[in-house]
Amino acid sequence: MALITKRPKGTFDIVPSEAYRWHTVEKIVSETAEQYGFREIRIPTFEDTGLFVRSVGETTDVVQKEMYTVSAGGKSNFTLRPEGTAGTMRAVLENGILNEGFPQKVYYILSCFRHENVQKGRQREFHQFGCEMVGTESPRADAEVISLAKSVLDRAGVRNIELNINSIGCPKCRAEYHKALKEFFSARKDELCHTCGERLEKNPMRILDCKSEICQEIGKDAPLIIDYLCDDCREHFEQLQKNLQVMGIEYKINPKIVRGLDYYTRTVFEFVTTDIGAQGTVCGGGRYDGLIEQLGGPKTPALGFAMGLERLIITMKNQGCDFMEEKTCDLYIASMGEAAAAKAMALTMQLRDEGFFVEYDLVERGIKPQMKYADKIGAKFVMVLGDNEIETGDARLKNMADGSQTDIKLDDSFTDNFSNALVAEMFKGLDDEMVSLFSGKE
Ligand code: ATP
Ligand code: MG
Repeated sequence: MALITKRPKGTFDIVPSEAYRWHTVEKIVSETAEQYGFREIRIPTFEDTGLFVRSVGETTDVVQKEMYTVSAGGKSNFTLRPEGTAGTMRAVLENGILNEGFPQKVYYILSCFRHENVQKGRQREFHQFGCEMVGTESPRADAEVISLAKSVLDRAGVRNIELNINSIGCPKCRAEYHKALKEFFSARKDELCHTCGERLEKNPMRILDCKSEICQEIGKDAPLIIDYLCDDCREHFEQLQKNLQVMGIEYKINPKIVRGLDYYTRTVFEFVTTDIGAQGTVCGGGRYDGLIEQLGGPKTPALGFAMGLERLIITMKNQGCDFMEEKTCDLYIASMGEAAAAKAMALTMQLRDEGFFVEYDLVERGIKPQMKYADKIGAKFVMVLGDNEIETGDARLKNMADGSQTDIKLDDSFTDNFSNALVAEMFKGLDDEMVSLFSGKE
C-alpha cells in the first residue's frame, strides 16, 4: 500500500531507536541549566506574527523569507516560532516574571520552524535548547551564559569547538557604523542581491549576514563594527573578556560576527565546530538590551543563547561521544496456557511496582516466538511458565547473557530472589571485593 503522504521536506521523525540520543542531550542541557539557576519555561508553538516582525526584525532573512505564517479561521496572523527568545520575552512580560527580582533566568527546549534551504544541519523544523537571563547589564552575566553553553558542550563531550565573540555595540555606536556601511556598500549597490539592495537603506548591517555569494564577496572588506564602538561598549567588551579569562574559557575575537536577528546589542557569540561541514554553528547568542522595551515592556537589559540540538547530536555522533544507554528489559515472562498467563501478569505487576522493567506475552503466541521476542528486545532474564510451574510453584530463571539457569520459587520470595539474580549479573566481572562493597555483604 502506498503511503498517503510523506513527511514534509526538512522535517524529521525521531524514531524510538534514536530517542536515547535526545534523552541524553535533554538531560545534559536541563541539568546544567538548573545547576546555573535557570528554570524551565514552556511557551506556545505559535505567536502573533507581529511579535517576530518586531523583535527578530523586518529586514532579517528569518522574517523576510523563512517564517511559516499559518491561517486559521480565515485569518493569517499567527506564525510558528522561528526561534525562542521573542516568545520567551513575551511570556516573561505577560506573566509578570520581571517583578520577581533580578536576574531572572529561564531555559527552554523547543522546536523552531524556518522555511530554509534544506541541507545537513539545516532543517525546516529543528530543536533548540535556549537560555535567557533578564535584568542585568553586567559583563559578568555575559561570561556566565557563555560559560553555561560551554559546560553543556563539555559535558556532551564535544571537542574541536571554538568560541567566537564580538561586540556589535549599542544604538549609539550603531548609528555611526551604519553610515560607514552605507557608504561602503553604495559603491557596489547594483551588484548586491535584490533583498540587500533594499537593506542598504533600512538596515545595512543585515547585508553582512546575507547568504548570497555575491553579497558575501562584496562584504569581505566592509568596515568592522568593533572599530566604531562607543567608550561604554568598548569597556563592556573588555570586561567580558577579563571575566572569560578568569573563568579559563578560551575565546577568539571574530569581528565579522553580526548574527541573523536584529535584536542583538553589544556581546554576540557563537560556538563553532569544523566537524560538521558548513553548518558548524552549534550555538549562537548574545545580548539584547533593547528587546524588552521594544516589545512594550520597561527598559530592561537581557541576554541569552540558543543551541541547535540536531547540530549538537550530529557533532556528538561524528566525534563518537557517549550517549546514555537505553534501558533494557530485566525479565521477560513467557507463558503457555491461561493459568500461566495470569500468573505472568500478576508477577509482572508485582515486579514493576518494585521498579523492575518487565514484559510478558501480549500476542498470545507459542513459547518459541516468545523466546525469540525476548531475545530481540535484549531481555536480561527469561522465565517460562506452564501448567507444571503453576502446579509445583517452581520455575527456572534463564540468564540470557550466558545461558545459565537457576531455580526460583513463585512464592513471596520471588521478588527478592529475582532482584538478587539481577544484581549478581550486574556485578559479574567486578572482583569479589567490589561486590561485597556494593552489596554490603562481608
Ligand atoms: P545559521 O547562521 O546557521 O543560519 P542562525 O544564526 O540562523 O544560524 P540562530 O537563529 O542563532 O541561528 O539559532 C541558534 C542555533 O540554532 C544555531 O546556532 C543552530 O545551531 C540552530 N539552527 C538555526 N537554524 C537552524 C536550522 N534551520 N536547522 C537546524 N538548526 C538550526
Ligand atoms: Mg539562519
